[in-house]
Amino acid sequence: MTSSDPNAGLPVMVIIGGGAGGLELATRLGNSLGRKRRARVVLVDQSPIHIWKPHLHEVAAGSLDIGLHRLEYAAQARWHHFEFQLGRFIGLDRPNRSVTVSAMPDMDDQPMLPRRTIRYDQLVLALGSTINTFNIPGASEFAIALDSPGEAERFRQKLVAACIRASARAEAGKTSLVSIAIIGAGATGVELSAELRNAARVLHAYGIHGMDPSRDIRISLVEGAERILPGLPERISESVGVLVAKLGIDILTGEKVTRVTALGVETASGKS
Ligand SMILES: Cc1cc2nc3c(=O)[nH]c(=O)nc-3n(C[C@H](O)[C@H](O)[C@H](O)COP(=O)(O)OP(=O)(O)OC[C@H]3O[C@@H](n4cnc5c(N)ncnc54)[C@H](O)[C@@H]3O)c2cc1C
Repeated sequence: MTSSDPNAGLPVMVIIGGGAGGLELATRLGNSLGRKRRARVVLVDQSPIHIWKPHLHEVAAGSLDIGLHRLEYAAQARWHHFEFQLGRFIGLDRPNRSVTVSAMPDMDDQPMLPRRTIRYDQLVLALGSTINTFNIPGASEFAIALDSPGEAERFRQKLVAACIRASARAEAGKTSLVSIAIIGAGATGVELSAELRNAARVLHAYGIHGMDPSRDIRISLVEGAERILPGLPERISESVGVLVAKLGIDILTGEKVTRVTALGVETASGKS
């Protein structure tokens, strides 16, 4: 910061994480304090774009285009009078009131932004959460956690590739089943299972005409509790269960996953 910097001397509010909580906070603080130059509001995120997480199952199923629904933090910052710093939060120095943000390479892995230290007067950590695999062998290696746009996009690409392979097998007169196991029948798992049934349109766009998604894509919803949507009232689990079953989705409740391999999911009761 130079002495000609209009923000020099202002209290610095640093928000780490531009998710549902952090982005909203940075936007509101920017509109109030940033706009009136009463504070320098800084948002830090490891990604240059925000995607509303409740859309991730649609990204994974290919029914929502990330390009149309993403928000560039830098643009939001300009519109709402805050500053955006791209980088991964890697250190906190509370006595000196500063955070360390990692260096960031560009898309060709060339150095783009250096490692930085940002001083703060007030700090908000809004880093969200990550999926807990409960140390189940193979889970972090072979399963995809639907937790970020990158993972949702990776799932979509793997699904399309599996369907292209199955379609080629079908044309050669071989079995063409694509089997998807969703571990966890909470809101995200249930929504994803239903959304995947809408995959037909997407497959058509990829030129996969030989497959019938309702017949050739098998979707299994595996849940450790005795019912799907265990966090919601029983009557909701029951009515959603009827709808999900009507979509042709296999529901396996009371099944605790013990191992994930490259070929499948194994449960405590011995199912595979
Ligand atoms: C598939 C899915 C569907 C959901 N559907 C719903 C729904 O329908 N309704 C509902 O109310 N909730 C839903 N949720 C939950 C909701 O998305 C979360 O409760 C909410 O996003 C939490 O907000 P947050 O700001 O705490 O964290 P997040 O939104 O997770 O944001 C965390 C941010 O921190 C950044 N970050 C993390 N680590 C670092 C680091 N080291 N350095 C820099 N940046 C970092 C991330 O890039 C991210 O931008 C859903 C979640 C998922 C995954």
